[in-house]
Parts: sequence; C-alpha cells; structure tokens
Amino acid sequence: MITLEHVSKWYGSTHVLDDCSTRIEKGEVVVVCGPSGSGKSTLIKCVNGLEPFQKGAITVDGISVGDPRTNLPKLRSRIGMVFQSFELYPHMSVTENICLAQRHVLKRSEDVARARALELLDRVGLRSHADRFPATLSGGQQQRVAIARALALDPIAMLFDEPTSALDPEMINEVLDVMTELAKEGMTMIVVTHEMGFARRVADRVLFMDAGAIVEDAKTAAFFDKPESERAVRFLSKIL
Ligand code: ATP
Ligand code: MG
Repeated sequence: MITLEHVSKWYGSTHVLDDCSTRIEKGEVVVVCGPSGSGKSTLIKCVNGLEPFQKGAITVDGISVGDPRTNLPKLRSRIGMVFQSFELYPHMSVTENICLAQRHVLKRSEDVARARALELLDRVGLRSHADRFPATLSGGQQQRVAIARALALDPIAMLFDEPTSALDPEMINEVLDVMTELAKEGMTMIVVTHEMGFARRVADRVLFMDAGAIVEDAKTAAFFDKPESERAVRFLSKIL
C-alpha cells in the first residue's frame, strides 16, 4: 500500500535519508521513532511528496510519488497529514476549517461538506464546538479538529508528525484516543511519536530511525521486548 525502496535524500551534503526501505500494508499502523534529527519528519514528508528525494522509489497505492508524471497535488489530497502545530485557519470557524478543502478539492456542495464536517466533529467529540473559532479551543481540541479536517477528504492513509508533542499532558490522551479509534477502524497510519504507550497498544510495527537510516523495522512486541540494535536499546532506556 505504501512502499519505500532504497530511498535516499540529501540536504546539500547532509545525508538525511539513508537507503530507507519498508512496506506498509493497508490497515497497518506503523510508529516511527528515533532521536531528534534522525529523519522521521523528512521520511513522512517524502511519502506524500512534500519533500523531494534523490534516490530510490516511493509508491502510495501503486502511484509513484517521485515520478514527475504523477499528479502530486491529487495524490497529496488523498493522504491526510497532521502536524505538531495544528495549523487551523484562525479566521474560520471549526466547521469552515473542515469544509474548505472538501469544497475546493473534492468540489462538494456546501450542504454535503457541512454534513460530513458535523459527522466528523461528532466522531472526535466536538460537535458542540462546530461554530467556535480555533483560538477559543484548547490545544487538544484544536488537534482533534485538525484530524477531522484531514479525515474529511476520505484519505487512503493518514500521516501524523508528533501530533501530541505541543500539547499539555492532560490533553495528550484525548488526541491519542481519537487516533486509537481510527486505527481500530482500519485506517492505514504512519505515526511519528514518542508516546511509547500508544505505540505498544496500537502499532502493528515500529520503525526506529537513526542518522537517516531505518535501523529497526520490527513487530511492536519484538521491538519493545528485544530491540536488536544497541542504538534502539539506548533510545528506549532514555524515554521509557
Ligand atoms: P525531530 O525529532 O527533532 O523532529 P526528525 O527525526 O524529524 O527530528 P528531520 O526533521 O527529518 O528529523 O531532520 C533530519 C535531518 O535533516 C536533520 O539533520 C535536520 O537538520 C536536516 N534538515 C531538515 N530540514 C532541513 C532543511 N530544510 N534544510 C537542511 N537540512 C534540513
Ligand atoms: Mg520531526
């Protein structure tokens, strides 16, 4: 469903992705972890074509991301992306935030987009906040709106880049709970996170990155019970 084959990327002379290969099946949940600067964000940005890469191949649903003939905006619209900073439009209500791309990208009518927005707000527990503005919501609520906004485009996969890192501790679980539900419903997900409790409970597989390389690609239980590399052992001892 998502494949990476020998992907390498350089920023100038810095090798930021070093021969990365993996395969993520439909419905699989993969957590990506590793030290700061190891290339986690770069990896998922390459998957939806936000960053170019110089070597190797990435496909999403059989479509080659690096092929110049690929309609990248179209592919990107089918992949939901949620960032650490929620990036909601501050001058629009919650519902308008969720309707905007539905109207422009999917050309849905106002009524259809609005109905879908309300349905998704229900799902993330924010139906009663539909007409509020982002600034009046907590960080956890804003992030749940950002997830609803991504889901509104009926994505074939969801990419998360440290979705809870900017949140106060008491708000982390409300966002992880929404993500856990999504995973249970069979969404294909790549999640960059240091929430190892979430990884253990929800992920099918864990990728551990260091210095641009995928150092471990293991089933979740195997990764936590018996990490193979010394670097992963050291990383886990610091954050668990
Ligand atoms: P963090 O945990 O801090 O978010 P990360 O694993 O997501 O780190 P990346 O942001 O993917 O790491 O960065 C990987 C490497 O690429 C780092 O060495 C970083 O300095 C470098 N890098 C990232 N973006 C750029 C850029 N636009 N120009 C040059 N170098 C960059
Ligand atoms: Mg990052």
